[in-house]
Amino acid sequence: MIDLNTLTITKAHAHLLSGDFSAVELAEAYLAEIEKKNLSLNAYLEVFDDVLVQAAEADKKLKNLKTAELPNLLGIPLAIKDNILIKGRRVGAASKILEGYIASYDATAIAKLKEAGAVFLGRTNMDEFAMGGSTENSAFGPTKNPHDPSRVPGGSSGGSAAAVAADMALAALGSDTGGSVRQPASFCGVVGMKPTYGAVSRSGLIAMGSSLDQIGPITKTVEDAKILFEAITGRDPKDSTSEDNTIYRTISSRGRSKGKTVIGVPRSFTHAKGIDADVLKNFDAALARLARAGYVIRDIKLPSVAESLPTYYILMPAEASTNLARFDGVKYGLHRSGEDLLGDYFATRGNGFGREVRRRILLGTYVLSAGYYDAYYGRAVAMRDRIRSDFDATFETVDVIATPTTPTPAFKIGEKTGDPLEMYLADIFTVTANIAGVPALSVPSGSVSVGDEKLPLGIQFMGRRGEESVLFSVGERFAA
Ligand code: GLN
Repeated sequence: MIDLNTLTITKAHAHLLSGDFSAVELAEAYLAEIEKKNLSLNAYLEVFDDVLVQAAEADKKLKNLKTAELPNLLGIPLAIKDNILIKGRRVGAASKILEGYIASYDATAIAKLKEAGAVFLGRTNMDEFAMGGSTENSAFGPTKNPHDPSRVPGGSSGGSAAAVAADMALAALGSDTGGSVRQPASFCGVVGMKPTYGAVSRSGLIAMGSSLDQIGPITKTVEDAKILFEAITGRDPKDSTSEDNTIYRTISSRGRSKGKTVIGVPRSFTHAKGIDADVLKNFDAALARLARAGYVIRDIKLPSVAESLPTYYILMPAEASTNLARFDGVKYGLHRSGEDLLGDYFATRGNGFGREVRRRILLGTYVLSAGYYDAYYGRAVAMRDRIRSDFDATFETVDVIATPTTPTPAFKIGEKTGDPLEMYLADIFTVTANIAGVPALSVPSGSVSVGDEKLPLGIQFMGRRGEESVLFSVGERFAA
C-alpha cells in the first residue's frame, strides 16, 4: 500500500503517471487527513468545496495528454496562504476587515499553478496581514504546531507549514516579508524558501512590505521546493519589480576555493548572547556535517547584519501602514458606519484590524511623519544600502551564508504575546535576507528534546541574488 499522505511531489507525480492512483484518490486522501486533524490544528481557514472537481480535471489531462506534456504539478494537492488571491474565492489575510471579500483575479503565482494543473485544497491560517511570527495574530484563532499542539507553528505562514508537516497538504505556498515562510517551516520540521526579491511576481499577493514581500514554497523536501519555485518564478508585466531570473541555474564560482563551495558563517552574529544553547549545538553539528560533505566552512564578518532587525522594524511598518490605507471600509470587505465619512473609517478600521496590525500602522505612520522621517525612515533606508553592500562584498568570497533559521525552537502558545519585542526578536536571522533581497532556504537540521517532545530545528542558507540553484544544491546535499 502506498501512503498517499507522505509522498513528495516527485514521487506522487511518478505514481500518477503510472496510474497507481488517480488525482481524485490523492486529493481524497488529503481531504480525509484534513477532516481528521483540522479541528484541533486549525491550519485551514477554509477547505474548498470543489477539490474533487479540480482533481477530476487533472485526471482528464492525465488520460488525454502525452507523458511529455504532463507538468510535474498536475494533480498535486496544495495549500495556499490566505493572502494569495484565487479568482472567485474568499481571501482574507486572516483579518476581520476583509470579511466577505472575494478575489477578483488570480495571483500570478496561482495562474501559473493552475496552468500546471495543481489542485488547491484550501486557504491556510496566518498572522493577520502576515504580521507576526506565531499565527497567534489571526482573527480566527491560532494554528497549533503538529509536533506539540501546546506550541505555535511559527508564522506568519503557520497554517501552510502545519498543513504540510501534518500531511494535510503535499506542499504549500506562503509569503515571506521577514521570515514568514522559513521560520514556520523550521518550527514545523519542513522545508521553506524565500526567493530572490523579484524572482516571483507579487501580483495578487496582499501587500505587507512591498519592497520585502515574496511568495515562497513550503514543502517536505528541497527538491519539491525547487519544483514549486520553478513553477512560479519569472518576470510578470503586472509586477514591475519582478525579473526574469537570468542567472538562475548558472552556478557562479566566485567564492570557490579549489572547486569547492564555500559556506560563510557570521559567528559573532550567529553565536551571540541570547541564542538558545540547543540551537547552537544543533547548528554547529550541522556545520560539521557540511564540512564532512566537502564544503569549506569559513568564518565571516558581515558587520552590519545585526542592524537588520531594527532596520526591518522601521521599513516594514512604514510600507505596511501605507499598503493598509486602502482598507477603508469602502472598497473591500467590512463596512461599519460612523457619523460621517471619517467616522466610517474610524469605525471600520477600529473594528476590522487586530491589535498587532494597529500597532504597526501606528509605528509606520510615526516613522514616516514629517518631523521623524529623516531620523527613522531615512536612516533605515541608508542602513539597508549598507547591509546590501556588506552582502555583496561577502558574496565575493563565499557562495552561501549559513545561520540557524531561528534563535529558539517553537515556543508555547501565549508565551510571547504579551511582549511584542520578544516576538520581533524571533526574526533575528531571517529578516536580513529580505533586507538584502537575497534568496534564503530553511532546511530541517534535526530536533531538540524539550520535556517529552521533540521539537524540530532548521538551518538557513542564504545565497547571491538569483542563485537559488546554489541553495537547492547545498540544501539537497545537506538533507541527504
Ligand atoms: N515575523 C515577521 C513579522 O512579524 C515576519 C513576517 C513576514 O515575513 N510576513 O513581521
